[in-house]
Amino acid sequence: MSPDAPPPPLEGKKRRIAVMTSGGDAPGMNGAVRAVVRMSIAQGCEAYAVYEGYEGLVQGGDMIREMKWDDVRGFLSRGGTVIGTARCMSFKERWGRLKAAKNMVIKGIDALIVCGGDGSLTGADLFRAEWPGLVDELVEKKELTAEQVEPFKHLNIVGMVGSIDNDMAMTDATIGCYSSLDRICESVDWIDATAESHQRAFVVEVMGRHCGWLALMAGISCGADFVIIPENPPSGNWEEEMCKVIKKVRVLTLLMTPQANTLKHRGLGKRKTVVIVAEGAIDTNLKKIPCTVIKDLLTNKLHLDTRITTLGHTQRGGSPCAYDRMLSTLQGAEAVKAVLEATPSTPSPVISIVENKIVREPLLEAVKQTQEVAKAIEAKDFARAMSLRNAEFTEYFNAYKITTATSQPELMLPPEKRMRIGIMLRDVSWLDAEAWASEGGSEIGTNRGLPSEDIETTAMCFGKYKIQGLFIVGGFEAFRSVSELRKARAYYSSFKIPMVILPATVSNNVPGTEYSLGSDTCLNALIEYCDVLRQSASSSRRCAFVVETQGGASGYVATITGLSIGALAVYTPEEGINIKMLDRDIDHLRESFAKDRGQNRAGKIILRNEKASKIYTTEVIAGMIGEEARGRFECKSAIPGHFQQGNRPSPMDRIRATRFGVKSLQHLETFAGMSKNEIADDPMSTTVIGVIGAKVRFSPMEEVERKGTDWGNRRPKDEFWRELKGIVDTLSGRRNSHAVV
Ligand code: ATP
Repeated sequence: MSPDAPPPPLEGKKRRIAVMTSGGDAPGMNGAVRAVVRMSIAQGCEAYAVYEGYEGLVQGGDMIREMKWDDVRGFLSRGGTVIGTARCMSFKERWGRLKAAKNMVIKGIDALIVCGGDGSLTGADLFRAEWPGLVDELVEKKELTAEQVEPFKHLNIVGMVGSIDNDMAMTDATIGCYSSLDRICESVDWIDATAESHQRAFVVEVMGRHCGWLALMAGISCGADFVIIPENPPSGNWEEEMCKVIKKVRVLTLLMTPQANTLKHRGLGKRKTVVIVAEGAIDTNLKKIPCTVIKDLLTNKLHLDTRITTLGHTQRGGSPCAYDRMLSTLQGAEAVKAVLEATPSTPSPVISIVENKIVREPLLEAVKQTQEVAKAIEAKDFARAMSLRNAEFTEYFNAYKITTATSQPELMLPPEKRMRIGIMLRDVSWLDAEAWASEGGSEIGTNRGLPSEDIETTAMCFGKYKIQGLFIVGGFEAFRSVSELRKARAYYSSFKIPMVILPATVSNNVPGTEYSLGSDTCLNALIEYCDVLRQSASSSRRCAFVVETQGGASGYVATITGLSIGALAVYTPEEGINIKMLDRDIDHLRESFAKDRGQNRAGKIILRNEKASKIYTTEVIAGMIGEEARGRFECKSAIPGHFQQGNRPSPMDRIRATRFGVKSLQHLETFAGMSKNEIADDPMSTTVIGVIGAKVRFSPMEEVERKGTDWGNRRPKDEFWRELKGIVDTLSGRRNSHAVV
């Protein structure tokens, strides 16, 4: 057999699956590689990594390496891409792709999962389209025989989008974009502090040549005064517009500052100005808007001490945030599933996410639509450029406009329809009424007695303050309160007003949504905590940690953290804990430690939700594991407690708070002018706003209470994340793992 002879195909439907990272690096790419490798192995396939992007494919040999389970250990928390990436000119040429095809056949690989940007995915699809021709040419040129290529007649391609810019169409998020946004927000928060101290203005340039996602989301998250993005350039006289907006914010407070007479446009309160500019910022004539021009305007026209900060490559760096770890893991697992389900005629898919749902979209269409955005910008068709981005993007853009100082007369209700909206930003229980009473006269109830008594006082207060709509932000108790108010409408007409609850709790246990504000911040805090624990263990003795997570009776926090850090086991209240489970997991730990070598050595983490078991507490489990380790490793318990509330809100929580807040108020406004009875008769007048699958929805409370709520356990009846538990187990190699694919 010649050295170039491919190995025989694997039995049945089992395949040799290669994974590659290509184009610009993005945090989370390693998580995607890990998930593809482990999921492939779990399905009985062989996994290969192509090093250095398409360069590795063209060069072949050792650049295409089989990956074993342990080779991807520790990948989840690492930034950049461990298997490397490169821009490869030769793959753009047919001769390069011919070499790549030969190298793949030699290794017996006929499925390629590519994590990269639109360029990388275009190349991948072209490769697939040409594959039969390339294989024939290899036979014609006698580089391979007809028998050798026979089993590899079709190539399967699956794309995953790894890009910090979030510039791909047909997906809400690309792997890496939220980590990058996190870096940007962190930097702008730091800049804020110094800007405020010196009353300075800052012009911050962020990445995004044709895509303003990072700039816009950073603008929303950090409360920037002005944002410039390529898809929707500021109007012809943007210079004046920008100065007006910035001046307005400052003038509002001008009169109250001691320096008012000497320092024009300097006000009390807003002591800083931040303008965020996308790298590709242009005006409506496609003329680049450089940061220096903005700086000069702010300096000369508004007399602000202005500095420019270009964030540059810091935006690419570092450990991925929880969302990117979760996204890359779920997409990697889905990509393997797509390979195994593909037939020769299935169009190449790209794995996307829409709101909260992992979906497959046609790769070619997604690439085409992405490239259309740049073309639309080039043609000055900005309305089309905006419409080609997903619907979420336009919504965010509008939400930003509404929540900044720019006046939006077209968005205002006519005076006769304007409403008095009550806003509550806390968990509301009837006992809270006493606290409200002491807060500057907003006396809503004073009784600790029966809820009905308090309801009466509450109803009276709603009437007294002429509340015409209610917007509550809170957790399960807030949900219960809205439910009680809705039911009390039968007796108190002052509750016949539209009400919306925006779920906000780290536990993410409110029915009617798959996402609650604050839960992303909590996940980020927990992965940081766990990363530190693991790191501390790797530099000293072998150590396992049993980490206790919050979440009440919902295992969401534990499970998603488990997915994001690669926990060895996750214990949830839904599943409970039993002795057999512990026995198997202790065996698993022993084996796992036995395999650890040198560099790969790191602490192992088991996550236990605070209510997973009354008997097997965190300390008890840690004690049992430590005892059974028989000196081979230590086991400690760790309780992060309030650390899980997070230090600063994550960008995702910030932007979603803005978007959902604006949407909620707009929903309440739709009831303006309706009679009390009309409102009470409409099920949409009391709703939960939330993400369900691929949609953001208002769900009628009445229905959610009845069909979707497990009142006893204070959690939704159908928890969407429960199916993800199997993936956590499969990817950690846990013995009692669920079947996934
Ligand atoms: P980013 O969004 O970070 O720029 P990208 O995937 O778009 O990522 P590119 O540099 O455009 O980055 O593409 C990466 C690699 O993909 C190229 O170096 C090249 O090897 C391959 N590639 C890109 N476009 C094509 C194409 N049209 N045909 C064949 N290969 C291509």
